[in-house]
Amino acid sequence: MLQVRNLSAGYGHVRVLFGVSFSLARSETVALLGANGAGKTTLLRALGGLLVPTGGAVRLGGRNITFSEPETRFRHGMVQLRGGEGTFAPLSVGENLRAALIGADLRRAEILERRDEVLAVFPALAGRLEDPARDLSGGQRQMLALAMVLQHRPEVLLIDELSLGLAPIVVQELLGALARLREHGRTMLVVEQSVSLALDLADRAMFLENGRIIFEGRSEELQQRHDLLRAAFLGAPEEDPAAEGAVRP
Ligand code: ATP
Repeated sequence: MLQVRNLSAGYGHVRVLFGVSFSLARSETVALLGANGAGKTTLLRALGGLLVPTGGAVRLGGRNITFSEPETRFRHGMVQLRGGEGTFAPLSVGENLRAALIGADLRRAEILERRDEVLAVFPALAGRLEDPARDLSGGQRQMLALAMVLQHRPEVLLIDELSLGLAPIVVQELLGALARLREHGRTMLVVEQSVSLALDLADRAMFLENGRIIFEGRSEELQQRHDLLRAAFLGAPEEDPAAEGAVRP
């Protein structure tokens, strides 16, 4: 579905990504982990077309989109859920869902069909259609933000920091919702600070450090890599005698 080859990007003279390569198969969920400042958001910006890469290539379903406009990528099915507040607080849940489809050029029956489709994935929202988004719990607001994005029926969903600022119990609620999306065969790249959430959810995980992918493998394998996980949390990797082999470039 998504192929990234040798991608480099940065801001002005500051290079942030150095030859990043990975791919996402259809219906696969991959977690992207890394310490603060590793370049995760920069990678998502380059994938979304908000940052022009200085090298490499990005393909979506075989189509080269390296230099495509964000709107073009969106039309071809690459949709991002950005970190932070993704809903309109004073609008009701139903209005938020309708607002997400403004400009989508759909007939009323199709709009309702898509709404019902996402409400089936997030039943907690179905009984709250008339309530303002600000009255929802933090987790439900994130579900609403996700539902708004899903109405576009993305081919590849890029999620940035889904659990940011949410209490652990709320994160558990979200995990269930994401697991359902996974069961529905969504292709997802999940950028997360919460390692446990990312690993519970993903088939594979990648670890980004200083703009390079230094680990890629099954989620269970990353769970054993205490050296990398410690680096993500504490920012200062220590020698771990239990860890096998060196992955540092
Ligand atoms: P975090 O989890 O803290 O958001 P991240 O892995 O998403 O971290 P990025 O936000 O991609 O990291 O930042 C990577 C590097 O790029 C950092 O050194 C950051 O200071 C730098 N950077 C980010 N945005 C800009 C910008 N607009 N201009 C210049 N440098 C930037």
